[in-house]
Amino acid sequence: MKNKAKYIIVTSIIIIFTLFLGKYLVTDFNITDTTNNYNEDLNKEDSLVDVSKISNDDLKIYFIDVGQADCTLIEQNGKFMLIDAGNNDDGNLVVNFLKQKGVSKLDYVIGTHAHEDHIGGLDNVIQNFDEEKIFFPKTTSTTKTFEDFVKAVKAKNKKLYAPNSGEKFTFANSTFEILAPNADNYEDANNYSIVIKLTYKNRSFIFMGDAEKISEDEILNKGYDVRSDLIKIGHHGSSSSTSDKFLKAVNPKYAVICVGKDNSYNHPKKSVMDRLKKYNIKVYRTDEQGDITAICDGENIVLDKTPASYNYMK
Ligand SMILES: [Zn+2]
Repeated sequence: MKNKAKYIIVTSIIIIFTLFLGKYLVTDFNITDTTNNYNEDLNKEDSLVDVSKISNDDLKIYFIDVGQADCTLIEQNGKFMLIDAGNNDDGNLVVNFLKQKGVSKLDYVIGTHAHEDHIGGLDNVIQNFDEEKIFFPKTTSTTKTFEDFVKAVKAKNKKLYAPNSGEKFTFANSTFEILAPNADNYEDANNYSIVIKLTYKNRSFIFMGDAEKISEDEILNKGYDVRSDLIKIGHHGSSSSTSDKFLKAVNPKYAVICVGKDNSYNHPKKSVMDRLKKYNIKVYRTDEQGDITAICDGENIVLDKTPASYNYMK
């Protein structure tokens, strides 16, 4: 009897210990598994920034999917900059995105040029948030979209400021320089686009608006240092922009194209996609991937998606 009791106790201890160990191992395996899944979403070739280590100091760039239009929100240390706000119909989407990111005040609002797919949603944005500075090039338009934008600015007792090419500004821990426009009488409204180069420590980002080859050539002729790690491709991947010469000078590792799925302009074009492929530039695009986020600690750049295709529209 004594031996039987001993046997039961020892067996029970072994069973309990095995169950406990099993549970522990399974839990541990699950943790490892989750980490692996997370890494698969990121670009394996790049130095990864540990999500738990993302700090307020990091520069966060959100390319918001507004279809065939442009909208970029930039955040650092509680400061915010908005470049364009999509079409008229995107106003609420953009306002909600900004609210979700905790925006109450925009330190800079940049309307790159007068076209609806850039300033369409800006009146909604201006009505919903406080703005420090609102940039717009020296140009006007007779469209209702433009009138709505100007009305919203006036209602806030604000004035549009047309920054000069070469002018430099501070944004949180970063700086940015105005590279265009470099003239004041363009045939095509796209060339009025305000082009900015944003720099945080050792990394730079260039935002092209819809600037075309004419503006790109002027930027190069002015002798600006256009070298950037990431480019927001000009004019939704149209063949009018992203000339070979300009792309070579920028020499980016990453390109983001804000473009609508099955858009009527057939953007992006073959010539641009071929060029990006030729220079081995990793492409990210809103038509295939929706919203795209880039995070930079001044040294590393991480995107929240793996690179998209070099597909083009015919
Ligand atoms: Zn556009």
